[in-house]
Amino acid sequence: MEKRIWISPPHLTGNELTYLKEVIDSNWVTVVGPQLNHFATAIAGYTQSPHITLTNSGTSALHLALRSLGVGKDDFVITSTFTFVASVNPIAYLGAKPILIESETETWNMSPVFLEESILWCLKMGKKPKAILLVHLYGMPAQIELISAIAKKYDIPLIEDAAEALGSTYKNKHLGTFGCLGLYSFNGNKIITTSSGGALISDDVSYIKKAKFLASQAKEDKRYYEHKEMGYNYQMTTLNAAMGLAQFEKLEDYIKLRRRNFDYYKLALSPFGFQFLEEPNSNYYSNRWLTTMLWDKKEINASTESLKEALKKENIESRLLWKPMHTQPLYKKAKYFGDKTSEKLFKKGLCLPSGSSLSESDLERITAIIIKKIKA
Ligand SMILES: *Cc1c(COP(=O)(O)O)cnc(C)c1O
Repeated sequence: MEKRIWISPPHLTGNELTYLKEVIDSNWVTVVGPQLNHFATAIAGYTQSPHITLTNSGTSALHLALRSLGVGKDDFVITSTFTFVASVNPIAYLGAKPILIESETETWNMSPVFLEESILWCLKMGKKPKAILLVHLYGMPAQIELISAIAKKYDIPLIEDAAEALGSTYKNKHLGTFGCLGLYSFNGNKIITTSSGGALISDDVSYIKKAKFLASQAKEDKRYYEHKEMGYNYQMTTLNAAMGLAQFEKLEDYIKLRRRNFDYYKLALSPFGFQFLEEPNSNYYSNRWLTTMLWDKKEINASTESLKEALKKENIESRLLWKPMHTQPLYKKAKYFGDKTSEKLFKKGLCLPSGSSLSESDLERITAIIIKKIKA
């Protein structure tokens, strides 16, 4: 059996061990220590975000973002339907109601048209949405100018789930910095990893202050442990931050490598009819976290499912696109605005191995299997 290829494995070739050893030698294996400050400063500096807090996952960062904005029971929160379930669950944790918005076809992210339609519906129901939670899927920037303008027009706070999009920009401004709050994930499969971890960023110190308070069990400023609100144990540890520092040193290289993967697949596979999602114009810069492709040649008997199986037989992992949230049993009762664009994408799409550690010969091997399958 040939070497296993994963879809997006951790890529650890830098100073990870050195920095981890420093933590262990210092005995600061906790939620305070210089590594946390250094990593926070690095991410804040890179993304040009004035305020930041590090968390133990992207999901917890999102949960904190919603709490910082005061989201609670029965509030409406508008979000993207075409995403990973972690974007929507924190809304449900709070007893709030997710309103699911369909994607447009240019970036596969939230449609501004359906967004506005949903806001008008909420207002008609007599309840202004508490937040818009916009996802930048697979690293591709959403139509952020249009969405920001709508958020402003109706005065609704915007949160950006940039979990998959660290390093992606729109007009050279980092995704995550357009709204009130933005978040990144450092899960093992993301572009850089701390094993598990996340970051919450904002221009407004009050949101981050509140998030820090909630992330550390909501202790009041007293001589003893006094609690008025219910908090969480959501802080990042120094071990994770040490990993993050080493990974951060490689981020620019990893973005280039993931973009190279996209270019390679597009060049090799588009002549056969596979379609790749382009950046709509030069304002959009994607970190190409995952390369995705669409395949809808009905005359050829190879579904995306069968391509996935062909790769699996050769010890190569690929995945179908995210299954839209409005089609999930968990969220089938949620209000949905759209035209089923994401259902079509889900049927036709495949995520290809996209790690920064892929070699040119790995890419050759993968594309050869796909081409052989459709010719069979
Ligand atoms: C990975 C991911 C998250 C959650 O991040 P974790 O660090 O895994 O908790 C949230 N939203 C999206 C879109 C993701 O891809």
